Amino acid sequence: MNKDIQELSELHWQQDLLGSIEVGIVVLEKDFSVAVWNQFMENHSSVRPSQIIGKNLFSLFPEIDETWFKRKCDPVFNMGSPAFIIWEQRPYVFKFGTSRPITSASDYMYQNVTIFPLASITGETQRICVLVYDVTDQAMAKQSIEGLNARLQEVSRIDGLTGLYNRRYWQERFEREYKMAMRNDPDVCAIMLDIDHFKKVNDTHGHHAGDLVIKRLAKLITLATRETDICGRYGGEEFAIILPDTTEKTAKIMAERLRKLVSLDAVPYEDIKIKYTISIGIAQFTSDYREAVLWLEDADKALYEAKEGGRNRVVLAHEGSLE
Ligand code: GH3
Ligand code: MG
Ligand code: MG
Repeated sequence: MNKDIQELSELHWQQDLLGSIEVGIVVLEKDFSVAVWNQFMENHSSVRPSQIIGKNLFSLFPEIDETWFKRKCDPVFNMGSPAFIIWEQRPYVFKFGTSRPITSASDYMYQNVTIFPLASITGETQRICVLVYDVTDQAMAKQSIEGLNARLQEVSRIDGLTGLYNRRYWQERFEREYKMAMRNDPDVCAIMLDIDHFKKVNDTHGHHAGDLVIKRLAKLITLATRETDICGRYGGEEFAIILPDTTEKTAKIMAERLRKLVSLDAVPYEDIKIKYTISIGIAQFTSDYREAVLWLEDADKALYEAKEGGRNRVVLAHEGSLE
């Protein structure tokens, strides 16, 4: 085989290799004109080598942020050190559609990109090679796991019957609120409330009817509170609320509104309407509470007083003393 044919055949298998590899290969000159554009790049961009070789990369791909990309390539040219761009930082460098539109949930190809220097015989970096990896499947899998985890976390915080926070998560938020209050001493109130004579509802109409009443009360609590208030189902028919930026006086106005709303409500069940009332205890935070539990205990004591006082009423733990 003469030398020319040998060179030609070597070129041929090298072209084959560049063509069949499932990785984008782009070689760029110092002025960012394109020297190599492999089959993968052609397939995904629909730009043929003949259209781009010798042309400036950014002129054909205006979606690439030129300043950013050049900054990434700078150390590759000047110090010969490789650079990496991962999809978590930037989903893609080249905006390509996905090659699996049916199976993929993504509209575009997620990419990991490696840029490394191609040194000349003199050791100087005249060109750089950009490798583009399709990591769409990996990115989609990670995102769906993250989505599931977020959903799972959300579900684990919620009480199934009422949709309010469950006791465990409410308690966690309460402890956090307490720690913040200890630092900043803001106006913040804790509320405990409980349905009056609820055993009678269960005994008279059954457990299912009781559940409907609990659900309905949760809805009224949501209606009567602000989005920033933290509402939880603390026990069977007992609820706890944290009211940030609220004094006992203001909390009482809100609590009275809720109490009234409940006392006027009637839950439809079969062919009857179930009437019910609630008792409410409120304790405003003071820095005298050495532990979060003492604050909550004061709200609970106020609730107990409301029960003792005849139910269907609101009692403040610090009536008048915090003015
Ligand atoms: P009080 O006015 O003193 O609060 O009287 P009460 O009858 O409401 O007494 P208590 O709070 O001690 O009773 C709570 C009852 O709530 C006891 C329990 O059977 C019932 N209960 C607890 N959880 C649920 C639930 O998820 N669904 C239903 N239907 N009933 C529940
Ligand atoms: Mg009760
Ligand atoms: Mg109770």
